[in-house]
Amino acid sequence: MEKKIIFLLGIRFFGISRALIIIMTWVFSGCATSPENSHVDNFEPDGYYEPLPSIGKKGYLIKQLASEVYFFSTGVYNNLFIVTSEGVVITDPIKGKGKLLKKAIREITSQPVRFMIYSHSHIDHIGDAHLFAGDGVQIVAQVETGKALKRYRDKNRPLPHINFGTNYSLSIGGITIELMYMGEGHGKGNSIVYIPSRKIMMYVDTVTPKSVPFKNFAYTVDIFSQMKGIEKVLKLDFNTYIAGHLHRPGSKEEMKEVLEYYYASKKASIEAIKKVSFLDVRSKSKTKDVERLFGEYLDAVAEECYRILKPNWKQRLMGFEAFTKGHCDIWIAYHRTQKAP
Ligand SMILES: [Zn+2]
Repeated sequence: MEKKIIFLLGIRFFGISRALIIIMTWVFSGCATSPENSHVDNFEPDGYYEPLPSIGKKGYLIKQLASEVYFFSTGVYNNLFIVTSEGVVITDPIKGKGKLLKKAIREITSQPVRFMIYSHSHIDHIGDAHLFAGDGVQIVAQVETGKALKRYRDKNRPLPHINFGTNYSLSIGGITIELMYMGEGHGKGNSIVYIPSRKIMMYVDTVTPKSVPFKNFAYTVDIFSQMKGIEKVLKLDFNTYIAGHLHRPGSKEEMKEVLEYYYASKKASIEAIKKVSFLDVRSKSKTKDVERLFGEYLDAVAEECYRILKPNWKQRLMGFEAFTKGHCDIWIAYHRTQKAP
C-alpha cells in the first residue's frame, strides 16, 4: 500500500517515468519502512489520514453523484463530467490521465464531448486537454486562465474559445452549469464549476476535504483573497464538492472545516509572532551571518505556530506534519509584508 501511495504521489509530481525511478531507488536502497531503520526513531507519528482505495489495474474510479453528473478519480487527482442527451461536458483533463477519462466516459455514454471546462491553467490539472480538443469541442475558462495559457504557448493546453469574466452560464441538454470566479486566490483565474440543480460543485486546489491545504497553500498568490473566495463559495447552496485531489468528493461541512483551519493557522501565526522574541533567538544563536540569524528567528516563529496548532488539528486533517509549518511561514510573511497583525 505504501509503495503504491509513493508511486502515485511520485506521478503527481514527477511524471510516470521519474516516479518509477523514485520507487525503484526507494525499494532497492533498503529504505523500505521497517522498525530497524534508524530514521524511524525520529519519525513524528502521522495524525489523521485516510488510506487511498485500491483502484486496481483500471487506474481510475467513477462514481455517479447525481443524475447526469459523474465523479472521476485516479486516486490522487479528480474531476467531474456531465453526460447529457446533447453531449458530454468535461472538466480538467488531468495530465497523463486523458485516455483514462475517455474510457470512463465511454463506460457511461457514446455521446461526443461538446464542452471542456478548465478550472485554472495549471498543467497538472489540464495537461491532457489536447486529447479532447478539435471536433467542435468548445473550451471554456476564465479570462485570466486564457491569458496565462497564451503566455505558456503549450500545445497540450489549447486556448479557450469562451473566456468569461465573473460568471458564465452553460446550458446543455436541460442541465445548467454555472462557472463563477471568486477572485484571485490559487493564482488568477481559478474558477468554480457549480451545478445548482444537483447541489454539486467543483473548487480545485483550495479546500481538499479532511486535509490541510497543500504545501505553502498550494503556491497560492493571494492567501487573504483565497479565504474570502472560500467564504463566498460556502454561501452557495450545495451538498457535495470536488476538490481536484484525492479519491472522494467532500461535503459542505468538510469545506467549512478546512476554512476553519485557514483561520486557525492565521491566528496561531499572530500568537507565535507575539510570543517568540528576536533578541531571545539572537542570544542563543551561534551564527555570525545576519541572514541566517533572521532565518533562525522565522523558523522559531513557524515552529511555535505549529506547536499552537498541533493539539487541535493534527488528528483532524491529513497532511498536518507535512505542511503546517509551511502554512505558518506563509502567514508570517503575510503579516510582515501585507498586513501587520
Ligand atoms: Zn493548481
